[in-house]
Amino acid sequence: MTEDLFRSDAYLRECAAKVLRIDENGIVLDRTVFYPLGGGQAGDAGSLDGPDGLAVAIADTRKAKDAEGKPTADILHVPAPGQESTLAKLQVGDTVTARIDWERRHKLMRFHTATHLLCHLVPQPVDGCSITPEYARLDFHMTDALDKDALSAGLARLVAEAHPLLVGAISDADLDANPALVKSMSVQPPRGTGQVRTIRIGGDGAQAHVDFQPCGGTHVANTREIGPVVVSKIEKKSARTRRVVLGWGAEGAPELQ
Ligand SMILES: [Zn+2]
Repeated sequence: MTEDLFRSDAYLRECAAKVLRIDENGIVLDRTVFYPLGGGQAGDAGSLDGPDGLAVAIADTRKAKDAEGKPTADILHVPAPGQESTLAKLQVGDTVTARIDWERRHKLMRFHTATHLLCHLVPQPVDGCSITPEYARLDFHMTDALDKDALSAGLARLVAEAHPLLVGAISDADLDANPALVKSMSVQPPRGTGQVRTIRIGGDGAQAHVDFQPCGGTHVANTREIGPVVVSKIEKKSARTRRVVLGWGAEGAPELQ
C-alpha cells in the first residue's frame, strides 16, 4: 500500500520513498506526494529521481487495480513513454525522491477549489466533473439557464473574500444521516475506513460556511490563492444537464473589492 501524503498536506512538492513494485502499468512506492486521477481531478506528473542521477519522468498517476478492476491501496506512477533503458536501471528497494510538477499541480488545486465555489453558486446536484491544468468543467443536473457573467462575478467575489479552507472528517454513519452533503451524483466519497474526509470553505465561528462536502482531492488553503478564474463557457449538454467550463482569467485583472 502507498501512504498518500497529499491528503494531509497538499503543498508537499516532494518526498523520499522506497520502490515497492515495478510492472508494465507503472511504479508503486511506499509513500508519495503524487495525486492519482480521481474525483474528476487529473493525476499528477513529475519525476522519480533515483541513485546515480537516475531520473524517471512520470506522465500520469493512477490508482492501481486488482484482477477484478477494483482500485487497491497502491498508487501507480505511470512513466512517460520511451524510457525503457532508464526504467531497466530502477530496482525494487531503491530509494527515490518523488517530485511533482508543482506548477501544474497548483493549477489543479486552484481549479479544484474553484469548483467547490461553483457548487455554492449553483446549488444543484453535480453529475460530472473534470479538472485539468488548462480548464475545469462541472456538469449540473438542472434545466434552468445559467448566466456566465453572473457566475464569473460570483467566483471573483468569493476569491476576493479570502475564505480559508478547513480539512476535516465525518463518520460514515453521519454522512449516511446527511445524504445532502454529497453534491456529486457521479462520484461517491471514498469509504472503507469509517471516516470520510471533508472540505469546509469559510464558516469558522458563527458565520455560515460557503461550501462543505466530502472530498478526497487537493485544494488551496484559502480561496484568495485561486486567483483570476472565469466561466469561459456554459453549454446545454443535455435536456437535464448544464455544463459550466472554467478557464484562467487575465493576471492582474481588477478584483472585486
Ligand atoms: Zn474538492
